[in-house]
Amino acid sequence: MKEKKLFINGQWVDSAKGRTRTIINPFNQEAVAEVAEGGEADTLEAIEAARKAFDEGEWTHKPAVERGKLVFKIAELIERDKQELAKMETLDTGKTVTESLDDMNDIIEVFRYYGGLADKDGGEIIDSPIPDSRSKVVREPVGVCGQITPWNYPLLQAAWKIAPALAAGNTIIIKPSEITPLTTIKVTELMEEAGVPSGVVNLVLGPGEKTGQQLAESHEVDLISFTGGLETGRKVMNAASGNFKKIALELGGKNPNIVFEDADFDTAMDQALNAVFFHAGQVCSAGARLLVQDSLHDRFVPELVKRTKQIKLGSGFDKTTQSGPLISKEHLEKVENYTAVGIKEGAKLITGGKRPTGKELQSGFFYEPTIFTDCDSSMRIVQEETFGPILTIERFHTEEEAVQLANDSIYGLAGAVWTEDTKKAERAAGKLRMGTVWINDFHPYFAQAPWGGYKSSGIGRELGRQGLEEYTEVKHIYENTNPEPLHWF
Ligand code: NAD
Repeated sequence: MKEKKLFINGQWVDSAKGRTRTIINPFNQEAVAEVAEGGEADTLEAIEAARKAFDEGEWTHKPAVERGKLVFKIAELIERDKQELAKMETLDTGKTVTESLDDMNDIIEVFRYYGGLADKDGGEIIDSPIPDSRSKVVREPVGVCGQITPWNYPLLQAAWKIAPALAAGNTIIIKPSEITPLTTIKVTELMEEAGVPSGVVNLVLGPGEKTGQQLAESHEVDLISFTGGLETGRKVMNAASGNFKKIALELGGKNPNIVFEDADFDTAMDQALNAVFFHAGQVCSAGARLLVQDSLHDRFVPELVKRTKQIKLGSGFDKTTQSGPLISKEHLEKVENYTAVGIKEGAKLITGGKRPTGKELQSGFFYEPTIFTDCDSSMRIVQEETFGPILTIERFHTEEEAVQLANDSIYGLAGAVWTEDTKKAERAAGKLRMGTVWINDFHPYFAQAPWGGYKSSGIGRELGRQGLEEYTEVKHIYENTNPEPLHWF
């Protein structure tokens, strides 16, 4: 097995202390790669390289159209290698190859989108109120950006950060989750092949509480973009306060999926299953909180349970598999614990709630798709992000109650409304306190539209024009075209 290294200042290097980490396949716990495990000295070197590359200005002051071409080139190389990348993502995360390939296609679009956007903002001329003056507003890169990503969508989350940061002229240090670094390493190789100058992209591998924390604390880092859990986000935010660096946080969610009695029964049913059980529920925007109108509840729930029992768990490489394993033993135990919490709180477990018995699933971190009914919003199982295949179901009577329940959450990432009544859907969408609201759909996201959370789901936006703006500082340049003394003393 060839060992994967760190990428610092245009060189592939071992960690200074020679440490490595074994990456395992969550389907069978087999080792799939050995990667360098960086330490403090390595991260420091990466920060210095990114700082130097930024301060020297060659990359930053390159015409934006040139930076855009390079971002396009990265998209082309990912397209060329997407089958290999998809297999790698499946080995590393356990998700199905179909999902991994969908991720790769989305990633390519993200690079293309930002490649195209790189040269579209030429600044703005302001109508200055002062005679004999010129006033313009320009956007400039922020500087050195630390980018920290999670394990559930390793490369997709990295792409959402890398593409806009490069398009805007920043230099970056990317730190993938220590358990799923493989596709980020591979795409760093592709960025090198595309011709990204030395020091502009640096890759550090290491544990979050050390390597990630170091990036968040460093006074040489100007912006930290983090995707991960709520509590880690809090640590990142605190650490970033040292030099008041810019922060962008994409955190968790507990996303309500509201089904009204007049929804199309089959479509709402089908998509409610996909919304929560897709990728074993390890999705920040998973529809893990189902709100069903009282009059529909007793017809909807039995059919939902029937179909849930048919979900096929298995290897991500098996074309018939609908959901793979959870990411790790620790995460499986966390999800199991949530089932115990739900039962203790009085929610009714009606399917799942245990590890599956299938022989072929015994070496993987599998958990049965699980449904609780009789839930209410005071329960932890309803309020907290389990990040596993657990669905809670609550009843509601009126439109107002549905909106009130859905908003009764510390989170505000995404939510959906199912109804044939357009006016009702739009009224509800207008009142839901979330960064994304879907009407008669669940999960769509794309490069052109912003993504991010209200409330404790995060700060800032990724994707869309807003995702590029996060990586810029705004400067006002004022010129007096007829300077004269003021004679004020
Ligand atoms: P996590 O918070 O455990 O880790 C995320 C990253 O932070 C990893 O790279 C980790 O190494 C690093 N890290 C850990 N401790 C750190 C510290 N003290 N300082 C700096 N970095 C540190 O999250 P996870 O378990 O990898 O991912 C799951 C979480 O990510 C879920 O809560 C999910 O909702 C969230 N997520 C959000 C979005 C979104 O778009 N909002 C997308 C994907 C995942």
